[in-house]
Amino acid sequence: MEAIKRNVLLNPGPSTTTDTVKYAQVVPDICPREKDFSGLMKGLREDLVRIVHGDPEKFTSVLFCGSGTINIDVCLNSLLPAGKKVLVVNNGAYSTRAVEICRAYGLPHIDLRFPVDQQPDLELVEKTLRENPDIALMHTTHNETGTGLLNPIRALGALAHRYGAVFTVDTTSSYAMRPIDVEKDNIDFCMASAQKGLMAFTGLSFVVGRRAIIAQSAGYPVRSYYCNLWLQYDYFERTGEMHFTPPVQTIYATLQALREYWAEGEEAKWARHSRVFRAINEGLAELGFRQVIRPELRSGLVASALYPDDPHWSFERIHDYCYERGFTIYPGKISSANTFRLCALGAIDEADIRDFFRVFRQGMTELGVQIPVIYKE
Ligand SMILES: *Cc1c(COP(=O)(O)O)cnc(C)c1O
Repeated sequence: MEAIKRNVLLNPGPSTTTDTVKYAQVVPDICPREKDFSGLMKGLREDLVRIVHGDPEKFTSVLFCGSGTINIDVCLNSLLPAGKKVLVVNNGAYSTRAVEICRAYGLPHIDLRFPVDQQPDLELVEKTLRENPDIALMHTTHNETGTGLLNPIRALGALAHRYGAVFTVDTTSSYAMRPIDVEKDNIDFCMASAQKGLMAFTGLSFVVGRRAIIAQSAGYPVRSYYCNLWLQYDYFERTGEMHFTPPVQTIYATLQALREYWAEGEEAKWARHSRVFRAINEGLAELGFRQVIRPELRSGLVASALYPDDPHWSFERIHDYCYERGFTIYPGKISSANTFRLCALGAIDEADIRDFFRVFRQGMTELGVQIPVIYKE
C-alpha cells in the first residue's frame, strides 16, 4: 500500500483520514443490490446506534446519501405532525440552518434566538414550551460548529420531554468524538455524517433515533419524497437496503473507519481529540490570539479566534501559506465578528498541531504580522 500525501485538515470536516480508510474504497465493482452489500449495511447501521449507546430494540439508524445537512432536513420535515410547531433553540449558524429548512417547507416554527457566544437561557426555553403547547418538536445543535460552543443538550432534552416534545439534536460535529449517550442525554434523534467524527468520506449521512417515534411518523404529512425518514426506514426494515442508490465506496470506507473507531475506543479517541484541542488553545494563546467562546463553554472540538487588528494580517494569505505546506485552516461563521477556526477532528494528534503552529508562525512573520498579535481594545 503506497502512502498518500498526508494533509492535516483543521477545517470543520471533512477530516484527515488514515490511509487504510482511503484504500478501503478500492474494491471490486459491485451492484449494491447484491445480498453481499446489504449484509454490510446491517452491521453498519447497528454500529452507528452502538456508538451513542442506544438500545438496539428502541433505537435504529437510517442512512441517507447526501451531506450532513440532509439529516436536519429529514428530521424536521418528517417528524412534525400536521398542525404542530417546531421550536428551534438557536445560538449559531447550524441552528439557523434548521430555521431555514422550516421556512423552506413552510413548517410552523419558533426561532428562539440567543447570542452566538452564550448557552441558551433554559428558563426562556421552558417558558416558550409552556406557552406553546402545540410545539411537538424541539431542535438544537450540540457543538455549534460555527463557533465551537457546546449546548447543554441533556437539560434541553429534559425540558422538551417535560412538555411532550420530541427532541432532535444536530450532533454532526460531536458524534463519535465527544461521548454521547442517547438515553442519558435525553436525545430522541441525533445525526452525523461519515466525514466528520468517524473520519471517513463525504456522501453518507445518518439519523439515529427512536423506532417508536419513526413508526408513529408514518401517519404524518409526507413533505419530501427523497428525504422522508419513515419511507427510508420502512424500506430498510423490509429489504435491508437503501431505497435509492447508496454511496457504495463511502460505505466501504466507513466500515473500515468503524473498525478503527472500535480499535481506538470511545474514551481514548475523546482523549486524543482533547489533546489536540489543548494544543490548539496553547498555540493560539502563545501567539496572543483571542477566542470568541469562553473556555468553560467550549465543545473541545472547534476553536474560534478573532482576527488581529494588524494591517499586515490577511486570512487568505496565511491560509494559502499553510495550505501549500499541507495544513488547512478555515474561516469562521459569525456575522458579527471576523474569525477563523481550528478544529480538532480527524486522524491527527498533538504533534501535528505543533507542526502546524511552526508553519503558521512562520507565515505570520513573513507577512509582517506582529507577534504577539495586537487588538485595538
Ligand atoms: C458539518 C455540519 C453539518 C453538515 O454540513 P454539510 O455541509 O451538509 O455536510 C450539519 N451540522 C453541523 C453542526 C455540522 O458541523
